Amino acid sequence: MHVVVKAYGKINIFLDCIGKREDGYHEVSMIMQSVRLHDLVEISEAETNSVFTDSMYVPNNRNNLAMRAALLLQEQFDMPSVAIRIKKNIPVSAGMAGGSSDAAAVFVGCNALFDLGLSEKELMRLAANIGSDVPFCIKGGTAIAEGRGEKIRPLTDLPKMHVLLARADYGVSTAAVYKEIKPADLHPQKALFSQLCDAVHHGDTVFVENHLYNALEEPSFRVDPRTKKRKQILLDGGVQHVLMSGSGPTLFALYATEHDAWQNYKKIRALFSNVYLTSTCSSDLIKDRVIF
Ligand code: ATP
Repeated sequence: MHVVVKAYGKINIFLDCIGKREDGYHEVSMIMQSVRLHDLVEISEAETNSVFTDSMYVPNNRNNLAMRAALLLQEQFDMPSVAIRIKKNIPVSAGMAGGSSDAAAVFVGCNALFDLGLSEKELMRLAANIGSDVPFCIKGGTAIAEGRGEKIRPLTDLPKMHVLLARADYGVSTAAVYKEIKPADLHPQKALFSQLCDAVHHGDTVFVENHLYNALEEPSFRVDPRTKKRKQILLDGGVQHVLMSGSGPTLFALYATEHDAWQNYKKIRALFSNVYLTSTCSSDLIKDRVIF
């Protein structure tokens, strides 16, 4: 018995930091968007638990977020041991929720494979124990994420947009970026947040393309100044609307038209080698992510 689950990556159309909470986490306000770039997570019933990935940057042990999801399910439900094999396509430590998405794939895949009978809401509640981005990765599509990122409110699916991703050859620790946030970095953008929510609701992709926002850019640039330099190179090269994804260092841009995406793709390819052209992923695609 086995399933393969497509574990879609994400970008943040809007990522705002409101302030630090008493529990040490930052209060965030985000608009998350799934992208078609995905890992493949195969889950099979086995004699003992094991996890294997094809990336040297990802642990093949209990620290793997996918294995942590399986262990949590085994603790709480009658579920056998599993062998998990992950084909990584989402860059690691890149601000695209690769690990969170693999964990979400294990929650969804095991629920289907072993008939656990858990609702999406129950899966999302369990998922918050593994990481703040995991509940969104279960829901997918376009959504608001608040609290420390685990409180999800779905939005109308954004119409298909084209996504350019410029991957870096280094990673940045999400924890280090959040630790670097200073009071001077916090400028809550409430008006922009509601304008973007309206734009998503009305399918105004041109507004979205022009108003991406990420409050983590400055702290992430201080953690690793190479990201700021890379962004500047792209802007100087005429690549439009470039923003850092999540806590970085991947840079991305969203385009309403395929024509603009190609024009900018050609410019970016002349500057960097690790470049992907993908597109946003609707909640309908997410529903079909489990392959038996
Ligand atoms: P986020 O956008 O949610 O902050 P990220 O995209 O910046 O996450 P990940 O690729 O999820 O970062 O990896 C973060 C850390 O988690 C790395 O140190 C990585 O080794 C570890 N990790 C554990 N399990 C996985 C997994 N299945 N895939 C990728 N990374 C994993």
